[in-house]
Amino acid sequence: MGELLADHTTLRLGGPADSWLTHTSRGAWHEVVRAVEGRRPFVLGGGSNILAADHGYPGPVIRMATRGIGARAVDDDRVEVTVQAGEPLARLVAYAVAEGLSGVEYLGGIPGTTGAAPVQNAGAYGQQIADRLTAVAAWDWQHGRTVRLNAAGCQFRYRSSVFKTQPGRWTILTVTLQLVRSARAAPVVYGHLAQALDVPIGARPPLAEAAAGVVADRQARGLTLPIHGPDMRQAGSVFLNPRVTDRLAQEVRAAGGPVYRDAEGVPRASAGWLLEQCGHGPGRRLAPGVYCSTQRTLTVTVRDGATAAGFAAGLRIMASAVAKSTGIELRPEPVQPALV
Ligand SMILES: Cc1cc2nc3c(=O)[nH]c(=O)nc-3n(C[C@H](O)[C@H](O)[C@H](O)COP(=O)(O)OP(=O)(O)OC[C@H]3O[C@@H](n4cnc5c(N)ncnc54)[C@H](O)[C@@H]3O)c2cc1C
Repeated sequence: MGELLADHTTLRLGGPADSWLTHTSRGAWHEVVRAVEGRRPFVLGGGSNILAADHGYPGPVIRMATRGIGARAVDDDRVEVTVQAGEPLARLVAYAVAEGLSGVEYLGGIPGTTGAAPVQNAGAYGQQIADRLTAVAAWDWQHGRTVRLNAAGCQFRYRSSVFKTQPGRWTILTVTLQLVRSARAAPVVYGHLAQALDVPIGARPPLAEAAAGVVADRQARGLTLPIHGPDMRQAGSVFLNPRVTDRLAQEVRAAGGPVYRDAEGVPRASAGWLLEQCGHGPGRRLAPGVYCSTQRTLTVTVRDGATAAGFAAGLRIMASAVAKSTGIELRPEPVQPALV
């Protein structure tokens, strides 16, 4: 039997891949391309945003494991940092903070690789990878060559990019960001982070304090990956916060629910709050072995006896409860490498 996707995803679900390649050496990419023999592979980073099917993936899977961070001064204020795709995002954040570079300090605690971060424009606490990304080097499977896509070419949106809307077309090999020399973090925009750091909204705390505050706040709110316990098998939030019309935004606000504007100014309601209004809550059982996390409704966790099909069914139960009661459609966040 081939390598199990369950061994490489944080949900620990998923059957075998037809064939398995680990890309560790930047100079050896063409060997990886040759080894897939013209088939379109599924590319895996840290597996923290994947719902892999029980029957596995009917093709080659490439795990991106190249490491390395390089830096070049642009001028006195700015530094260009180029990161290999397999480098954990957490290591980039730690590097930037240690070097006194601002631009990614609020992304700490997001699991996974730097190469995957542009795919869904990973973000948190008002910061997203698109804010500082200047280019990616990517392999274009359609034309069989390495290309450079600048930020505009990546078509970043809220939790989306061209890599998400055209899945499988490109594999990101490196990510280049322009970070700013600063002892201070970007302004705090989230109320609970301001509270945790004991600063007003808009304050710019010292870089290391801001980064540590985010990780502590994420831990307190069940937003990090536990290493043991009932919530250890998960893929983070399972739904995107849905965009709402101005009328729906008013209704949600009137009922006491949070509505905020994303980086494009689009009003979005909190998917977790909507689910709670429909009777879902932390710890709720959705299917055999599939539960809302003990800390938050929007994270669905897996225990013994769960299957990917059961997980997908659990998500359908949640989404249809919200659709029935509010008419709002919830869209799943984890990517499905094959139909579940
Ligand atoms: C506890 C927890 C908290 C989380 N919090 C957040 C959060 O705050 N904000 C947020 O945005 N996300 C969050 N996530 C989701 C996830 O961590 C991010 O989406 C992360 O960027 C995924 O990285 P990964 O390496 O694990 O990607 P994977 O899960 O391996 O892959 C995700 C997608 O990216 C593609 N991909 C991976 N590598 C590449 C590459 N090199 N080139 C092209 N495509 C590639 C895959 O094919 C797949 O489509 C959280 C997840 C967990 C478990």
